[in-house]
Amino acid sequence: MIEFSHVTKSYDGNIGLDDVSINIDSGEFVFLVGPSGAGKSTFIKLILKEIDADSGRITVNGHEVTTMSNRLIPEHRRNIGIVFQDFRLLANKTVFENVAFAMEITHQTPRTIKRQVPPVLSLVGIGDYVDRYPDELSAGEQQRVAIARAIVNRPTVLIADEPTGNLDPDTAWEIMKLLERINEKGTTILMVTHAKDIVDRMNKRVIAIDNGRVIQDEFGKYDYHANLRRVVSSEEENGPEEGLGTIGTKPAPAKKTHRDKKRIKTDEKKNRQLEKDRIKEDKEAQRIAAIKAKEDAKFAAEEQKKEKKKARRVARGDKNLTHDEVADALAAAAAEAEDEARKEAELAYSGSDKKEGGKD
Ligand code: ADP
Ligand code: MG
Repeated sequence: MIEFSHVTKSYDGNIGLDDVSINIDSGEFVFLVGPSGAGKSTFIKLILKEIDADSGRITVNGHEVTTMSNRLIPEHRRNIGIVFQDFRLLANKTVFENVAFAMEITHQTPRTIKRQVPPVLSLVGIGDYVDRYPDELSAGEQQRVAIARAIVNRPTVLIADEPTGNLDPDTAWEIMKLLERINEKGTTILMVTHAKDIVDRMNKRVIAIDNGRVIQDEFGKYDYHANLRRVVSSEEENGPEEGLGTIGTKPAPAKKTHRDKKRIKTDEKKNRQLEKDRIKEDKEAQRIAAIKAKEDAKFAAEEQKKEKKKARRVARGDKNLTHDEVADALAAAAAEAEDEARKEAELAYSGSDKKEGGKD
């Protein structure tokens, strides 16, 4: 589906990607993570053929992107939906028009557009807002419109570049569930993100890159910092040909040149910054997990109330039930709802790093 084979891209000596080989299969949901400047945007731009690789091969949907003629680029891009952190909706168009626009530019008939847009708007949960303008929508709703626009032409791949970066934790999670649903319907998803909590909860493949290289490719694991440090202290700075490339090998106790000292200082500074970033991310993840757990519990409680109400209504409406049967039905419904609520809350806690949130 998306295949990078020894792809290198540099910008006037700056590393963009450095000999990257990655294979993403059709139907996968992949997170692309890594510090700022790692090469994430370069990766996406190469897929879209917004930039060209210096060397290596890139194929998307079986088409060789690296040698693709200009004539085929629009068709290639049409097969890739894209969603951004800042939504990028057209302010003077309604929700319907924003989504329809993506179809108009591919020259589809008004009839097809009229038929195809409403179900997509319903799928993303904004079927009731067709006539609203973007500024009449919340951030989460705007992102839903952007997602609708990205998938309306039924692309095989959906690329999301920090789609939850401007959303509060709850809304972010709703958007993730929507993306997951779209993925379950068969669309391959590649999502760039810094949201550790989301990555950890989603349990999908995570590709981490730094300094233009893949430093980790694992399921369900955001934390790439350990690998980052190894790369910084060994491979990246010294190069494997110096004989220090093996991780864990003690560096030879040769006398330190000025360049060595400078390098060590840079390493230390970089590591300190990484450590700071990691602590900040952990704190943020904990904070978000706590909010999430509380919100989930609240939601579960509300659901429970609704269930009880419903049970009461059902019971009252059925004239043939005895008083005891009504009571039994109510008790059973309440127990079930309570059970659900507990499960929801537990799930919310187990999604966070906290272990003390268990029952009892
Ligand atoms: P990310 O999206 O992970 O933050 P990028 O792919 O944007 O990283 O950038 C990777 C590296 O390439 C960075 O060092 C960045 O400074 C450099 N870079 C990206 N675009 C350009 C450009 N147009 N000109 C020069 N350097 C660039
Ligand atoms: Mg970027």
